[in-house]
Amino acid sequence: MLSQRQPRDEASIQAVNASVLPSPDPGAPRRRGYLHVWLVLFLLALASPLAAFELAPGTDEYDLSPHAQVLHDTKAGHDFTKVRSAAGWQDLGTRSPVFGFADGDFWFRTRIRDAGHEERRWVYLISYSLLDEIELHILRADGRSEVRRSGDHTPFASRDLKHRHFNFLIDLAPGESVELLLRVRTASSVQVPQHLLTREAFFARTHESQAGIGLYYGILLALLLFNLILWGSLREPVFGWYVLYVATFGVVQMNLNGLAFEYLWPDWPAWANHAMPLSMAIGLATMTQFSRSFLGLSRQRPGMDRVFLGFIALQVLMLVASPLLPYRTAILVETASVFFIVPLILHVAISLTRSGYRPASWFLLAWSVLLIGTVAYAMVSFGLLPKWFITEYGIQIGSALELTLLSFALAYRIRDLEQEKARLIRAANDELEDKVEQRTRELETALAELATANQQLHEVSRRDGLTGVYNRRFLEQSIDLMWEASAEAGEPFSVLMFDIDHFKSINDHHGHLVGDDCLRAVADAVHACLRSPRECLARWGGEEFILLLPGISLAEARQRAEQVRQAVETRRQPPQGPRIELRVSVGVASAFPTRGTQVMALVEQADRALYRAKAAGRNRVELA
Ligand code: GH3
Ligand code: MG
Ligand code: MG
Repeated sequence: MLSQRQPRDEASIQAVNASVLPSPDPGAPRRRGYLHVWLVLFLLALASPLAAFELAPGTDEYDLSPHAQVLHDTKAGHDFTKVRSAAGWQDLGTRSPVFGFADGDFWFRTRIRDAGHEERRWVYLISYSLLDEIELHILRADGRSEVRRSGDHTPFASRDLKHRHFNFLIDLAPGESVELLLRVRTASSVQVPQHLLTREAFFARTHESQAGIGLYYGILLALLLFNLILWGSLREPVFGWYVLYVATFGVVQMNLNGLAFEYLWPDWPAWANHAMPLSMAIGLATMTQFSRSFLGLSRQRPGMDRVFLGFIALQVLMLVASPLLPYRTAILVETASVFFIVPLILHVAISLTRSGYRPASWFLLAWSVLLIGTVAYAMVSFGLLPKWFITEYGIQIGSALELTLLSFALAYRIRDLEQEKARLIRAANDELEDKVEQRTRELETALAELATANQQLHEVSRRDGLTGVYNRRFLEQSIDLMWEASAEAGEPFSVLMFDIDHFKSINDHHGHLVGDDCLRAVADAVHACLRSPRECLARWGGEEFILLLPGISLAEARQRAEQVRQAVETRRQPPQGPRIELRVSVGVASAFPTRGTQVMALVEQADRALYRAKAAGRNRVELA
């Protein structure tokens, strides 16, 4: 039954009304407590008569607002019998039936009269889904009255028609006049658009809006599945965040338009009330996370990224806290969050677009579309904008466009990723090629150096360490080849064997180091006498040398031996050190080599000739 509330001082209601509602009709007299209450009621009735409006044949849908009167009882002190005679009723007229967040009871009254319409059972519809308590009093002319209740504190099944918007069926006898007195109380934004429709008109309207809803959620679902598949195959986090964003956005929308209550939790009115701020918190958190991920904020704008992370933390906190907070507080925090984060995301997107970051421009475009819709809707909630189709469905229209544009942007991102991958592969290949080229060059250099070192090593192994002329080992290795070459060429082959005279006494007088210098000096002097690269000078042992002269006859060899002897004798003395006389004795042997003969026999002959030169007094040339 009806709740019995204490009647209140009318002046206080009026004073509050003056602040919440526009100023009343200037002709309305001000009531004072000292006047007799019946006189006041009489005057009031004169001041704001409730004219009945007629339901005439041909019109199947009526907007009740222009015909309704409203009274805001801020302290919720009236019951329906008292409120009818209370002061402060105002015509709603052409104003939008949106009052923002406000405490207390909102009363609306309308008088309808059948004027020959064939419809007997009308649908009284309140097209807003977030009202907590709704109480409709139907007062008939014969004094009968009935009360119906609805609101999202009442299970969904109690509605006359199973529809996402609150509704009541009202029977009207032919020519009957009925007063409709509606009380609304809610912690959310107060929006009470009232319509009266024939059942046929109601079903036609529902049919159309179901198509729109189907289309909207179809788009959302398609975007969600498409990006879910992309996420599954690409494993790029941004696609995952997008999927979450679309999903939570869809749930927020379903809460707003009453579908969540109708389909998701029809029997849990207590939960339905919490669902709105909760889904908003999840929605805002995933939206912000998606924006971070899409715009690459941690790289592009690290400072702003921390603000975004802080905001996400706040939303997570709200997730936990909002069931404990009063609904009004939670919904105000969430609505304020929208006003905070949306301009911020927009600001970042603009700044990144300006700095030439291409994905940001897509994002900006998508975001602007949603922003316009969201701001329009939020302004409706705060009573700053009237409830038009474009403002009421601003979020749906804006978000469908936004999410589609973002999906395009993500598709472009795949292309960017492909290009980036190709670029990385190219860069890696180029680098590899460079490295291979560089390594090849290094290897070639190393090989050349090795060859040079080998050459040098080879050369060193052929040379005598002290004098730099060939050593005995090399001579013994090559003398046979030289001999055979001369045999092949049919030319003579001469051998000069020479030994420094009295070298022992030089060593004894001047020391071994000076002796070494002398050995070098003799080698240099004789080396200067060489005339062709075929001629080969070698140290035979101690202070004994050998000179091979292919193609040189005995007579020539004798001359060359004399030259050698003189070259040593007349050699230039070094400016420093003691002046040392050096002489050599030379033995000469020559032959025409033939195949099968031994060159060493010739060497022995030269050696014997050398022995004879020594015996004959030294510093001379002897022929074999
Ligand atoms: P002769 O006129 O008969 O040839 O007399 P000689 O003193 O030159 O001959 P001998 O065979 O008696 O002495 C050769 C000396 O040469 C002995 C050795 O100490 C010296 N000798 C051999 N090889 C080297 C060397 O590499 N450096 C120096 N400083 N002395 C050497
Ligand atoms: Mg000697
Ligand atoms: Mg000797």
